[in-house]
Amino acid sequence: MPQKVISIRPESRLPGAKAPRYDGGLLADTLGRSMRDLRISVTDRCNFRCTYCMPREVFGADYKFLPHEAILSFEEITRLAGIFVGLGVKKIRLTGGEPLLRKGLPGLVAMLAPLGADLTLTTNGSTLVKHAQALKDAGLDRITVSLDSLDEATFRAMNDADFPVEKVLDGITAATEAGFSQVKINMVVKRGINDHQIVEAARHWRNEGNPGGHILRFIEFMDVGSTNGWRMDDVIPSAEVVRRISEAYPLEPVDPNYAGEVAERWRYQDGAGEIGVISSVTQAFCADCNRMRLSTEGSLYTCLFAQKGHDLKALLRGGASDDDVRDAIAAVWRLRDDRYSEIRTAETARKPKVEMSYIGG
Ligand code: SAM
Repeated sequence: MPQKVISIRPESRLPGAKAPRYDGGLLADTLGRSMRDLRISVTDRCNFRCTYCMPREVFGADYKFLPHEAILSFEEITRLAGIFVGLGVKKIRLTGGEPLLRKGLPGLVAMLAPLGADLTLTTNGSTLVKHAQALKDAGLDRITVSLDSLDEATFRAMNDADFPVEKVLDGITAATEAGFSQVKINMVVKRGINDHQIVEAARHWRNEGNPGGHILRFIEFMDVGSTNGWRMDDVIPSAEVVRRISEAYPLEPVDPNYAGEVAERWRYQDGAGEIGVISSVTQAFCADCNRMRLSTEGSLYTCLFAQKGHDLKALLRGGASDDDVRDAIAAVWRLRDDRYSEIRTAETARKPKVEMSYIGG
């Protein structure tokens, strides 16, 4: 499905002139937010068809994924990432689609590692057994693995690819053995689908059976894209997740690691580690949002719920200098006023939005 992209060639922003030269000063958007995180989608393809993300009815056998020539090369990604780091980005997350489906991904990690940003990856874990060591050796700092249920039937139904739980758990073990500690485990919670697994997941990932100190994070089901049939009734608010777990294993709040951290932290009162909850629906965190997203084909999005992006690939392939690209990115950030989750209604949820597999989760 082609996504809507607008050009940010400097002359199209400011008729007859280039984007203003970035002066090296504090880069703040219209709401005073600074740029800190960059998420890079390295592929729009995935081997899962999670019903809440890439439903099979839409992403079926005849779905047209991006052709190879349309997607950014590793060199182009690395060049852009370096410019973003120069503008203040401290953390880079590789995502997708399923990032480990991109051939040679550890090679990209090795190219990005010298930039010095905190380098992380979000994966469904399906091929981690094969790739974990190479990723570690290439310089990846941290890994997040998505795992929506430990119950076999529930997990297979949610990934809609008949993929077994065991293989993802093996991937997490491989990551631990490769030297990744505190792997984040993402669990999207959908009412009536996997919410019966909340306490079971908490029990499993409490420290006693979790030598890597991995951290389970519950994500509210979101209205990303236009194809996942989102309804507010299907959302389990994080407050309910915390309450349900607390009834079995009492929790207490923990201070964030840094301002703008997406997950709210809670720890077990008995010292058995911590969990996170990501409440983008019921407790919007737009006020601190410091994230940019680079799509698989090189468009820049300033919000997960955006309807259009800004075409950086055209700049790169049109011969723009690093300074020109930097000025264009700075101009986009300075004009940014997104705060979708704060103004979400049933009406906005129905509007066409870019798909998460394309923009990067
Ligand atoms: N394939 C990788 C994976 O499975 O982690 C990376 C891409 S995936 C889009 C990134 C994260 O977004 C996953 O943790 C996934 O569960 C989450 N996600 C996708 N659609 C979502 C939705 N509608 N609501 C909440 N989280 C969602």
